[in-house]
Amino acid sequence: MNHDAQDFSRRDMMRIGATGVAAASIANLPAVADEKAAPDKLPTRRYGRTGLEIGWLVGASDWTKELIPRAVNAGVNYWHKAHAWTANSFPPAIKNLPRESYYLECVVDRVGGDHSRGRIDEEEHYQFVKRRVKDSGVGYYDVFKFHFGYHSVEDAKQNTGMVRAFERLKKEGLVKHLAISQHHYNAIGGDMAWEILTYLADNRPYEATQFFYTYGDRKEIGEWIDLAKKKDIGTIAMKSMGGVGRAANDAKFQKLLADPKYQGSSPAAAMVKWLKSNQNLTAAVIAIKNFDQFNENVGAAASLAMNPQDHAMLALLADYNKELTCLLCAECVNSCPEHIAISDIFRYDRYAHDYHELHRARSEYSTLTRNATSCVGCGDCLPTCPQEIDIITKLKNVHDLLG
Ligand code: SF4
Ligand code: SF4
Repeated sequence: MNHDAQDFSRRDMMRIGATGVAAASIANLPAVADEKAAPDKLPTRRYGRTGLEIGWLVGASDWTKELIPRAVNAGVNYWHKAHAWTANSFPPAIKNLPRESYYLECVVDRVGGDHSRGRIDEEEHYQFVKRRVKDSGVGYYDVFKFHFGYHSVEDAKQNTGMVRAFERLKKEGLVKHLAISQHHYNAIGGDMAWEILTYLADNRPYEATQFFYTYGDRKEIGEWIDLAKKKDIGTIAMKSMGGVGRAANDAKFQKLLADPKYQGSSPAAAMVKWLKSNQNLTAAVIAIKNFDQFNENVGAAASLAMNPQDHAMLALLADYNKELTCLLCAECVNSCPEHIAISDIFRYDRYAHDYHELHRARSEYSTLTRNATSCVGCGDCLPTCPQEIDIITKLKNVHDLLG
C-alpha cells in the first residue's frame, strides 16, 4: 500500500465529512472496477454527439501516477491532455485496459505564437497529431480538441484549417471526434465564448465543447449549456472551482466552517454537487493534486443531490469570493481603454491561489504583451465587475506576485 493510501485515516474521514465517507469506500474498490458492485462510483453522462459515456469527473495527464489507478477504479475514463503521455509515461493502469474502455484527448494548439497571436495551420496540426499517435503508441485519440478556440465567429467562418486537419486524421483512423475548448476573446476585439460556440453548434462539425463555468457565473454560460444539450453537443466545465483553493488556505475562512450549518459539506464538495446538479452539463475538469482532493470530489460527484449544508456552503463561498475572486467572466475587458486582458491576468492569479501553481502562473504571465503595469488607473472597468473587485489594486497585487 502506498503512503497516501495508508494515510487515509480516521482523522481524514472526520475532516472530510459525510461526502468523503462515500469517497473512502471508493478508495477501497477492488483493482478491477465492477460497475454493478459500486453504487458510489462516478456517474457517467453522454458527451454529446461523440456518443461517449464519460465519467462525470474528467481525468488529466498531469495527475500524479499514484492517483491514476485510483481514478480508474472510481470510474474516471476520459483523459484530458492525454497527448502529453509518451509510450513510456502512459500509465499502466490505463494502458492495460481494453482500448475501447477509456477515452484519450489530444489537445491541439495554434502554432507560431500563443493562443491570441498564433495561427491555425492545417498541415502543422495534422503532423502534430500524427507524431503524438506514433510517439505515444496509443493507436488513436478519441477526441481531437482545438485548444483555446476561435477568436471570433468570423474567425470560425474563415479559418477551417483545424477542421480539415481533424477530417484528414479521422479518415486515417487516428482520431474519432472533434471538440473545442473555447475562451473569450473580447480583449483582442473578438467574441465571447458562448457566441462562438453557438455559431459552431450549427455550422461546424464540433461534437463537444469545454468552457469556463463556476458558481455565480454569467447567465449566458448557463444558457449555452442548455442550448448545447438541445443540440446534442457535449459540455465540460473548466476552471469550475472558483475560489475553492484559495479558501482552503485561508485560516479565517476555515474557522467559519465550524458552524454546524456547514457540517458534512466543504467548499469543494458543495461546488461539485452544484455543478453535477445541472443535468445538461456533461462533466467537469477539476484540478486535483492529491488523494484527499480526489476523494472529496469523487465522493461529492457520486453522492445524491445538494443538501442544505451544501447550499449554505456555496453562499458562504460566494460571499468570500466577493471583491476577491475573479470568475473570469471577461465583463470588464471591453471597458479598458488600454486593452489589458484583465481576465487572463486574473486567470493566472487563480492558477497561483486556487491551484497553488505559482510557477505556471508566472510563466503564463510572462508571455503577456500588455501586463498589469499597463493599467493607468482610469477606473472605467470598475463598475462592470459583478464581483465588485477593485481591479486596479488587484492588478497591482497580481503583478507583485507574478511579475
Ligand atoms: S483601471 Fe486599468 S484595467 Fe481598469 S479600465 Fe482603466 S486601465 Fe483598464
Ligand atoms: S474582474 Fe470582474 S468583470 Fe473582470 S473578469 Fe473578473 S469577475 Fe469578470
